[in-house]
Amino acid sequence: MDIMTGLSAAAKALEIAKSLREFEGKLNDATFKHQIAELYTALADAKMALADARQELSDKDAEIARLKAVDASKMRTVSYNGYNFGIGADGKPIGRPFCPVCEKTKGIQVQITRGLSKHDLCPSCKAVYGTGGYPWKLPDDFEIPPA
Ligand SMILES: [Zn+2]
Repeated sequence: MDIMTGLSAAAKALEIAKSLREFEGKLNDATFKHQIAELYTALADAKMALADARQELSDKDAEIARLKAVDASKMRTVSYNGYNFGIGADGKPIGRPFCPVCEKTKGIQVQITRGLSKHDLCPSCKAVYGTGGYPWKLPDDFEIPPA
C-alpha cells in the first residue's frame, strides 16, 4: 500500500461518516451497522497504508543517509584519459587510478592494483587493465588543479 491508497481510503471513510451524520435517525439498524462496518474497514485500510508509507519514507531516509556518507568519504580526483586518479591530502596523486567499472556500477572508489602479470586489475570486480590506452599513472607534467 502507498500514500495514494491511504488517501483514497481516508476519503472513503470521511464520505461514510458524512452520510452517517446526514441520515442520523433515519437509517434503520441494519443499514447503520453496515455503514459502520464499512467505515471501520476504510479506516483500517487508511491506517495500514499510512503505516506502510511511513516505513517506506524511513527506508528512503536511511538510504539517503547512506549515500551521503559514501559520497562524503570519497577522495578528490582528477580525470585523465577516462580514468579518475585519487588526490591525497598532500595534493599529490596516490598512484594508480580508480576502477571506472566500480565507480560507475557501485559508486565506490577502488584503486586498481598491480597484477601478477603485465596487466593491472581491480581487486573488487577483477576487471583487467593494461591495454587500450590505460594510464597506470598520471603523466609527470600533469597539472593538478588546487582543491
Ligand atoms: Zn572494479
